[in-house]
Amino acid sequence: RNVETMSATERLDFAEMAKGHLIQPWPVAGEIGAEARGGIIAGDGIYVTDIEGRRLIDGPAGMWCTNVGHGCEPIARTLYEQAMTLSYNSPWYTASEPSVRLSKRLAAHAPGDLDHVFYTTGGSSAVETALRFMQFSNNVFGRPTKKRIVARQGGYHGSTYLSASLNGRPRDHDWMDSAGDLVVKLSCPNPFRRPAGQSVEAFCDMLVEEFSTTIETLGAETIGAFVAEPIMASGGVIVPPPGYLTRMRELCRENDILFIADEVVTAFGRLGNIFASKEVFGIEPDLITFAKGVTSGYFPLGGAMISAALLARLRQSNHADAMFAHGLTYSSHPIGCAVAETNLDLLEGGLLAHARDIAPYFQAQLKTLEDLPLVGEVRGLGLMACVECVADRESNNPLALDLEVGKRIDAHCQQLGLLVRPLIHMCVMSPPLTISRPQIDDLVSILRQGIALTQDELVREGLWKG
Ligand code: PLP
Repeated sequence: RNVETMSATERLDFAEMAKGHLIQPWPVAGEIGAEARGGIIAGDGIYVTDIEGRRLIDGPAGMWCTNVGHGCEPIARTLYEQAMTLSYNSPWYTASEPSVRLSKRLAAHAPGDLDHVFYTTGGSSAVETALRFMQFSNNVFGRPTKKRIVARQGGYHGSTYLSASLNGRPRDHDWMDSAGDLVVKLSCPNPFRRPAGQSVEAFCDMLVEEFSTTIETLGAETIGAFVAEPIMASGGVIVPPPGYLTRMRELCRENDILFIADEVVTAFGRLGNIFASKEVFGIEPDLITFAKGVTSGYFPLGGAMISAALLARLRQSNHADAMFAHGLTYSSHPIGCAVAETNLDLLEGGLLAHARDIAPYFQAQLKTLEDLPLVGEVRGLGLMACVECVADRESNNPLALDLEVGKRIDAHCQQLGLLVRPLIHMCVMSPPLTISRPQIDDLVSILRQGIALTQDELVREGLWKG
């Protein structure tokens, strides 16, 4: 369809239909079932076109997922061809060719002995699978109390009951039930928010000590897993202190606690590798969960890579009849797996190298925004970054401005041609990996203007002294 010619009436219809019939994720009660979010109707490369006909840089690559960019022909062709070859098969009784081939390729990329895959429909179901696998294993191994899950404040792991129980961002649990006692939360490893006067090294020691004390207090026999995003994504692109992940990994090994690396965002090129755990952070987890970039968002697919040693231990247990009663109709979906194979071809065929090559430029250009008074810190790694706004740079206090700052910046940037992903007072950038240097310049220049306009507006409204 020609998006430029969409009439005002059509646009109104679109909004009315959305308000009348669509429930989008994460609505507030006051708007639920009566909300029309901005319409997006087309995409190509790093751009999307909105309902007004505006072409916008897709700053967050959808939801950190459109890694190869929009309108990717090879993937579109794969979707069609696989649908015509075999659109579905039941993973309960049979295995499809793409799922088998993809598993072998993923095993070759995964660290350590993570050489088996359990496929799911996305990230939440991947995390849910990893957690249920831990529970199942400990039942089979005769230690039914070893089930607690340790997660962190600031983390995000999904929207199913158990995966959501691990979430630790502000407001995640204000109105939602969760698995309570099963989950223990450690401090957020955010060096920017470490106690005043503390060195990053001392902060790291404190975080590791906190985990060690938690294990001692609760007893290793009650803790089944530690779940961590190598870089907290939705919590604001929090890169942990150097050495933090290896030390947390070591504590898990010493206490027979499964280390589950949630790589739903960090895998498939975002940090320049298929998986980041080993190559970027030097850790070999017991399980890795992935989704999003595995198909660049063209098909809902996720999965959990599982350690061969763990699987062997189960096979050798005394309970050959114990069933891992877990599986989804769309586990190992042939179309999803075929798309993931083509996506892998593109990543291996040059896109990973491009992402690695361009990432320092991306980070350096965004870092220049730190000269704006509203910006407290620009941080990130690879092709993921966060611009965190502060009320005043002396205290780095984010709270006085609270909710509206990210939204205000996003609104200005959309007028100028950039889609931002506002997270309270933070703007997250994770564009398609195909982004070029001139496109990075455009993105940063628009973001600079958007923040500058927001600064002026806040001063005008008397909300900020500037
Ligand atoms: N884990 C992480 C680290 C995520 O960022 C997300 C989604 O943003 C999830 C899990 C949940 O994935 P999904 O939304 O595909 O269920």
